[in-house]
Amino acid sequence: MSNLYNELTCLLEAASADVLELQRLHRRQPSSVTEDLVPGQRMIKTLLIGILCGAAALTIGILIGHFGITKSGSSAPPWLQDVAKDVDESLIETFLSEVNTLRIEENLRELTRVPHMATTAGDERTVQLMLKRWQDPETGLDRAWREEYLVYLSFPDPKKPNKVTVVGPSGDVLHAIREKEKPYTAEQEDPEVVQPYAAYSPAGHAKGKLVYANQGTPSDYERLNQTVDLAGTIAITRYGGAGRGAKAVNAAPYGVAGVLVYTDPRDINDGVTSDAGETYPHSWYLPPSGVERGSFNGQFGDLLTPYLAAKEDTYRIPAENVTGIPPIPIQPIGYEDAYVLICALDGDAAPQNWQGGFNCTYNLGPGFKPTSAFSASDVQMDIFNYEEKRNSSNVMGVIRGSVEPDRYVIYGNHRDSWVHGAIDPSSGTSVMLELSRVLGRLVKQGKWRPRRSIIFSSWGAEEFGLIGSAEYTEQYFTKLSERTVAYINVDIAVFGGATLSAAGMPSVQNVIFTAAKQVNRHKAPHAAAAEPLTFGLFAPQVAAPGRVSTSVYENWLRFSNRTSPALGLIPRLGHITGAGSDYAAFVHYLGITAMDFSHAYDRTKSSARTYPAYHTAYDTFDYASRFIDPGFLSHQAVARTAGNVLIRVADSLLLPLNCSDYAETLEQYLTTAESLYQEQLSAQKIPMEPLKRAVANFRSAASHLDRVIGASDLKNETPLKVRRINDQLMLLDRAFLNPLAFPEKYAYRHVIWASSSAGQPTFPGLADAYAQAESSGQSRDWERVHYQLSVLTQSIDGAAQTLVDVI
Ligand SMILES: [Zn+2]
Repeated sequence: MSNLYNELTCLLEAASADVLELQRLHRRQPSSVTEDLVPGQRMIKTLLIGILCGAAALTIGILIGHFGITKSGSSAPPWLQDVAKDVDESLIETFLSEVNTLRIEENLRELTRVPHMATTAGDERTVQLMLKRWQDPETGLDRAWREEYLVYLSFPDPKKPNKVTVVGPSGDVLHAIREKEKPYTAEQEDPEVVQPYAAYSPAGHAKGKLVYANQGTPSDYERLNQTVDLAGTIAITRYGGAGRGAKAVNAAPYGVAGVLVYTDPRDINDGVTSDAGETYPHSWYLPPSGVERGSFNGQFGDLLTPYLAAKEDTYRIPAENVTGIPPIPIQPIGYEDAYVLICALDGDAAPQNWQGGFNCTYNLGPGFKPTSAFSASDVQMDIFNYEEKRNSSNVMGVIRGSVEPDRYVIYGNHRDSWVHGAIDPSSGTSVMLELSRVLGRLVKQGKWRPRRSIIFSSWGAEEFGLIGSAEYTEQYFTKLSERTVAYINVDIAVFGGATLSAAGMPSVQNVIFTAAKQVNRHKAPHAAAAEPLTFGLFAPQVAAPGRVSTSVYENWLRFSNRTSPALGLIPRLGHITGAGSDYAAFVHYLGITAMDFSHAYDRTKSSARTYPAYHTAYDTFDYASRFIDPGFLSHQAVARTAGNVLIRVADSLLLPLNCSDYAETLEQYLTTAESLYQEQLSAQKIPMEPLKRAVANFRSAASHLDRVIGASDLKNETPLKVRRINDQLMLLDRAFLNPLAFPEKYAYRHVIWASSSAGQPTFPGLADAYAQAESSGQSRDWERVHYQLSVLTQSIDGAAQTLVDVI
């Protein structure tokens, strides 16, 4: 019908042109021959329009005949063209060309003007910024709004700063730990810079002999406890190995009174320690007084409202019932102070793999050497943290889908930081704002509207435990489960300049590769000059002069790859197994296909466990623009790749999710499980055959669906068939959910991607249960292994069932 309508409009336009012509002729007084010719030409033009309209009508007639008569015997419905429309490659090219480094840079400058820790005035400023951008009449989205939750947070008391001191036998303070980081630029002097602290550490006073407990893992304390009586001690630990809060949780059973945690220069700075020319502001390395802040809780979401959205009137559990948070005080400190403490420790030398980057032997303690200035002294901790319920906002924005508005592609990042948060999270938000600007403008100009709805989300209070995104998934649990096609997360967009890094379910591998191949990697003209400052973190392969050197895909392939049985040598797509950012609730709780993008530094050139200014007062615009991404080309590469994926998922007729790639990962997990567990399992008479059959079933179901798709001409088939296949692809990850599989792991329900402490790239429930049974040897634990094997087998079988023909 829309075709017929067009044809009529065309004819009407020609007719009205005739009328206008007559009116003009009527009014005009011809004064010369040349002028007389003009109306004649117009008549010819009118005639030509008529002929063209006739030709168009003929073509349309043929099309109607094709769709209307041969298929159904009636005329084509008006929605037919829209419904069969596929992703538009020229639109993607337009998008790629419009992503602008200068705008990303400006976004970052704007977002990082002041510290914006969750629920502070600075946070509210960024809420207003997001709303303003997403409500802009020329470049905004269809609609943008905020959603508030009343969430349980933890802060230090500015009036009573946390103190850590070395106290002599007579009570005199021999050393006091620095309370705020040393200023090198104006940003560190902002009064809104929060004192370094451990969120959710209890307030309290602890005093005792110092011991060195390595990374504070259960085995570290166990090892230390063999030679040192830990009761009443203060344990100093380094970041890494165990979760932040776990360092205190693991210590408490040994009677440890308090825990300190610091970042060892070996783990973050490639050994660099001097701020006289070596660390920031001279390089990306962490200055001696830099302290990593963080949340020390053990689960994601608001702690008082498990499995419920934290609305004002929601039921809350009593605060004393919260589990997984430190039972004893814990405080992070800089390596400058850790050096003073550790190098004065008495006792036996710590094991070789416990030694770190200081130029002294790390002894275990307890207490300080008699020869040191701290002889016979204790370490005292005075922690004044307090908890408070505060309003935290998510900012949401949508572009409504044209054909399938009830199918959502969600793109998100958190907005809150610890201090200025230039890299974490503002690099990702700068990218999101640029991406939404380009897409919003296309929508406002009437040039594009996605097939499916796009939801942009700027999450609040992520740093305290992924709270904004988790509450959102709890509030809209049913709607999101039923309608969300995929979640795309870009938190820290750029760690360094070397390569794209992506993680996700195996089904998104293909669309990420397609997008990454299409994005060229540009070399900043001034990047060569920046190279000494970034300690060679730009890849040498792309250091050749000239602008375009290679695609994001080719570059990624060089840095991180694997051999796929089906596809050969390909870039390595990471797995999303933990809860490192806001994808967690989508993956683990809702079973939504998800992906996470960033740009990484070259790990052969730096062994830093993350970018060195992470969660410190040095993560500023100056730091980001001089040392992490001068020229903002890595930001641009991430924006282009993630945006390209977003458009493809939102616009493709057939969802670009590939279940055969999923089958490959399940097969690899199975191979690993067989080699690790088969022998012991058969000794315990626990058969692995059902699992093998399930994985084989999944493979054959995936191949079958691929054949169905391959044999279909989806543009010319009933939209219900397209929708049916798309629903199979969309719901595949939902099929792996088992709400009862991991009762001890809050909100973990995805049987394939749940976190595991076994450290093996294989099925997590099986791996953890096996590790437990192997260490205890108890039959009860072997029964747990059998149970987990059955959960897994039936989950994979169940997922395979969703891919075969409907009945
Ligand atoms: Zn972050």
